[in-house]
Amino acid sequence: MRITVVVLYREKALKSLNKKLNSVLPVLVAVAFAISSKAAFAEDALVHPSASHPNATPGAPVPVKVSTPGGFGHKEGLEFAKTPEYKQEFDKAIESAKVHCVNFIKANPNTLNKAIISDLDETLLDNRPYFQDVKKDFTWADFEKWVFKAKAPNLPATAEFLKWARDQGFAIIFLTGRPENMRVVTTANLIKNKIAYDGLFMRGDTDKRPASKFKAEVRKKIESMGFKIVVNIGDQDSDLAGGFALAGEKLPNKLYFVQ
Ligand SMILES: [Mg+2]
Repeated sequence: MRITVVVLYREKALKSLNKKLNSVLPVLVAVAFAISSKAAFAEDALVHPSASHPNATPGAPVPVKVSTPGGFGHKEGLEFAKTPEYKQEFDKAIESAKVHCVNFIKANPNTLNKAIISDLDETLLDNRPYFQDVKKDFTWADFEKWVFKAKAPNLPATAEFLKWARDQGFAIIFLTGRPENMRVVTTANLIKNKIAYDGLFMRGDTDKRPASKFKAEVRKKIESMGFKIVVNIGDQDSDLAGGFALAGEKLPNKLYFVQ
């Protein structure tokens, strides 16, 4: 009799504990996730890459020819980005990119290897805080310091488009003139901005090809890997020149000009 009472009591206690755990467990899991997410996005962990990483330090040769011909410059670019024309041009290009994607899916519902190629600077990553801060036209030395902070915010319209396209099954592949020695900080910036993507092609540290040639050759390589590039999007004509994409969309930018 005494044993039965103890067993019943024990079962009751276990049920009670189980009930408590069931109500507490989701909270514990949420707290653990929040802590681990915070750790994963901790600025120190992302922005200051390990000194032992070969790609982590600034100082590679200047890889790109960036200039400010008439109509381009930090003042012109910052002012232009405040105008309705800038927004209209930006939105129109993004909308058009979306239409290309929708039409491609309709015409090729079974194509699995479809891809979007996107540039980074002034296409997805917004460097206006850098230009506002330095108050002068583009110089590689200043720009490099800014990039190594991994603090560029998203241009929201592009971020939303890329997220939408990825949800439709497009691979999102970034193709940037940033050199390989910026890979760690560039990845850190993209993670901080919560950008999901499938590939990141960068310029070799000693690669001096014009952007148009370098980018067209990488797109050719990407297509030879089996991808169909449906839309290529960038803020420079040199992002779009040279083919290897069904459509190109040019975003507005008067901050600088890349050959
Ligand atoms: Mg760009």
